[in-house]
Amino acid sequence: MTDVRHDAENLIETPVELSVVIPMFNEEDALPALVGRLRPVLDGTGETYEVVAVDDGSTDRTAGQLEDLGVIWPQLRVVRLARNSGHQAALTAGLHHARGRYAASLDADLQDPPEKIPEMLALARSRRLDIVYGVRVNRATDTGFKRRTAGAYYWLMRRLVGNHVPAQAGDFRLLSRTVLDALKALPDQPQVYRLLVPWFGFPSGEVAYHRDARVAGHTKYPLRKMITLAVDSVISFSVAPLRLATWLGVLAFFVCLAVIAYTLAVYAAGATTPGWTSLIVAVLFVGAVQLICLGVLGEYLGRVYTAVQQRPTYYVAEDTGTAAVPVAGIA
Ligand code: UDP
Ligand code: MG
Repeated sequence: MTDVRHDAENLIETPVELSVVIPMFNEEDALPALVGRLRPVLDGTGETYEVVAVDDGSTDRTAGQLEDLGVIWPQLRVVRLARNSGHQAALTAGLHHARGRYAASLDADLQDPPEKIPEMLALARSRRLDIVYGVRVNRATDTGFKRRTAGAYYWLMRRLVGNHVPAQAGDFRLLSRTVLDALKALPDQPQVYRLLVPWFGFPSGEVAYHRDARVAGHTKYPLRKMITLAVDSVISFSVAPLRLATWLGVLAFFVCLAVIAYTLAVYAAGATTPGWTSLIVAVLFVGAVQLICLGVLGEYLGRVYTAVQQRPTYYVAEDTGTAAVPVAGIA
């Protein structure tokens, strides 16, 4: 008689060839279209695969839809986070739970075409690459505002972090087990994957794709989240703002020296100093520089504080992968 539990454990541990990680937050409108396009592509590859759907604390019917889908799609695994933790944290959860020899990550709104995944996999295998970036050749379907802010973001990141950061590569990419294990070994801190992944320096390639419009629903990246991503990106990969603060301080120092020299000269000449304007200018200028520098220090200190607390970036409330055996029964 076979030990069913033992078999199940074995199957759970059996690595699949490909994991597809999809963070989703309130994607009830996009989910049916996503599954309709993704599943035929993955079934058609003939590879063993799992889909790791990370429900990032959705408050709509996403969770229910995923549960229903799990019944008819054995390769679907749902990792449900206890609350909305943000796109990058959801991606972290998905990548940590992925069991594949390769893992592709894509958005739930079909802006990243699933049809490109086999191409990415083939490229990674044939050229022994650890990373294949999906690089957007056009963003015609994005709003002008999104295009301009994205352009400024990639320009700044390449200047601050280095030219190894591919421009116009978002979170649609394929990673090998080597990279997944390297990511897992890092301390659990908020990560910005589009900067972290190139930072390792693993061999990488690119696959070009057209960025389509969001298939349904509306963006889950309001300006507030975009700013958070931009600040996290700069702070986690660069000390340039701290250096800038130092230079601002140096500049303020020389301006103050000049003002002091002028004041003394006026005093020595025996003239009554009108004084008020220069005084106000000096006080306000120095005050402003100090506030800016304090703000910059505060941003870094905040990151250090968060890191010291060592709270996980996400908390998994449920993982169907521990109960279901998604690798069984694949042709
Ligand atoms: N997302 C998430 N948590 C969030 C915000 C977004 O998991 O707090 C997911 C979202 O469901 C989508 C992906 O991240 O799959 C990208 O978000 P979206 O398409 O809204 O961003 P945009 O394309 O507008 O920049
Ligand atoms: Mg989108």
